[in-house]
Amino acid sequence: MDKYLSIITNFGCHGRCPYCVVRETGINVPETTLHGLTNLKNAIKETGVNIVSVSGGGDPLHNFEEHKYWYSELFALLNNIGLPIEMHTSYMNTKFPYEKCKRIVYHLLNLDQLDEVAKLEKEIVRVVYVIEKWMTKDHIGYIYDYVQRSRDIDELSFRQLVNGNFKEEYHLHDHLKRYHGKKWHYIEQCDYNDYYVEGKLYKRFSDIGKE
Ligand code: SF4
Repeated sequence: MDKYLSIITNFGCHGRCPYCVVRETGINVPETTLHGLTNLKNAIKETGVNIVSVSGGGDPLHNFEEHKYWYSELFALLNNIGLPIEMHTSYMNTKFPYEKCKRIVYHLLNLDQLDEVAKLEKEIVRVVYVIEKWMTKDHIGYIYDYVQRSRDIDELSFRQLVNGNFKEEYHLHDHLKRYHGKKWHYIEQCDYNDYYVEGKLYKRFSDIGKE
């Protein structure tokens, strides 16, 4: 089973997720810099992980062109030690080399975006939906059927929304749980990974940004 080190970036954000709870307050993650990668190799050794994921704090591919050197450095470092990358983003049309990742996880915001998802080469393509109040079992069924027919999408996940009080919601919980592992993955909020943020390691996401 893959053991993840999750790099949490802050390159800013498109601000498009309707359920966002940090848009007003700001992202509580330090700005991501090239210097912040210097401790990554040690952190990989210390945690014994076999895959590195990149997510946010905002969207890791926000203003990609401005951060392409950071990604070149990351790919070079991980190629050197033979570790794959999993990328989490809502951006589908940047110059980022999606096909060089082991897995791309697209965080989709509406049903129409399913049409935009494209597999470029052999990367595994997963789509994730945060469960919002407007969603019904029929919407879930539509998404499931779409993914079943798709040649571009390999995997489907749903995850619960975290509200303004940083508490998980339970909309459609029983239905989603019933088919977890059979039709889709249902992700309940918890800390699965070790987190790497600007040179520091954290065990809990909520500790990021606290000193
Ligand atoms: S990517 Fe994150 S910070 Fe940006 S709008 Fe979506 S939830 Fe909010």
